[in-house]
Amino acid sequence: MNSQRYKKIVQALFGMTRMINSGLQQRELLGKLAEHTAEMMQADSCSIFLFEEATSVLLSHGSHGLSAQEEAGATFAKGEGVAGWVAQHGVAAMIDDVTKDARYLHIPSQNLEIKSLLCIPMSVRAQVLGVMTVTSKKPAAFTREDEELLSFIGTSIVRDLENARLYKLAITDGLTRVFNRQYLLHRLPDEVERVKRYGDPLSIILFDVDHFKRLNDAHGHPAGDAVLRELADCVKNDLRETDALVRYGGEEFLALLPKTDLDGAMVIAERVRADVAAQTFRYLDVQLRITISSGVGQFAADESEGAFVNRVDLALYQAKTAGRNRVVRA
Ligand code: GH3
Ligand code: MG
Ligand code: MG
Repeated sequence: MNSQRYKKIVQALFGMTRMINSGLQQRELLGKLAEHTAEMMQADSCSIFLFEEATSVLLSHGSHGLSAQEEAGATFAKGEGVAGWVAQHGVAAMIDDVTKDARYLHIPSQNLEIKSLLCIPMSVRAQVLGVMTVTSKKPAAFTREDEELLSFIGTSIVRDLENARLYKLAITDGLTRVFNRQYLLHRLPDEVERVKRYGDPLSIILFDVDHFKRLNDAHGHPAGDAVLRELADCVKNDLRETDALVRYGGEEFLALLPKTDLDGAMVIAERVRADVAAQTFRYLDVQLRITISSGVGQFAADESEGAFVNRVDLALYQAKTAGRNRVVRA
């Protein structure tokens, strides 16, 4: 490899690491990675395909050198086309002239001129999660060195994606898909730190479904589960992107509201209470109504996280004893 190219590659790899850690949305990130990769490989196009779980079809999640239509049109089932072949066999394909390769599937709607193609599998723990492809209009454009480099890039990408997936799984409640308590254990100290450092207000709403046991008893546990799922969706609609909804216990939730003072949190809590009370929940052909009781509090800089949550929990308890379907200020 000549030193000019080596330098370019090292720079591009550094750029990629920066991007992966930059918090870009996945689609944008993979598009940028595809762009860098194409540049590094002196390719006309680069596509990152991932298996769609439900259908096992390879879909492009980021590409460079293809129009949006061309990208959308390039989908491959396992075993179909070069991408499908690579995914099925778990080995790379380097093709000097696609017109002489039976695996190559010509897509009529594609305007991109392709003569040579390199495709590598992206695997984690021996499982192929996707493939990465680069193409060139020149014949025999890619070398073994390119194959090694592309494999290295593909492996890093898929490992990062897998880590992100596992992290998300670890902090998500399986039933309602909102955050679980584990997440709060990480997030709350960060938010408290922000209060202490920048003086931003921080509030929480702790709420619990009223007489939920009765609903379970009358309609069955699966109906209760369906209600909890729908409840979480309903409440999320009332929160901002920067708020976090946490399933705190069985039918108890906590909404974490950064940069929100007590009055602001009371307004949100009241809106949530009213929306839940007005909503008709559905399970099969049964229509169900529920109400919630809430405690609301703003973090005081001199209290511990535990004392803060307990204080709001006490307000929730007061909302229950005062008759339920209401919001109480801690
Ligand atoms: P209160 O108004 O005082 O909160 O009455 P409640 O009946 O809601 O309170 P209680 O704590 O007596 O009962 C909570 C019920 O929530 C009991 C439990 O079976 C139910 N529950 C907890 N987690 C789940 C869940 O994941 N799914 C279902 N279906 N029910 C759950
Ligand atoms: Mg309850
Ligand atoms: Mg409860």
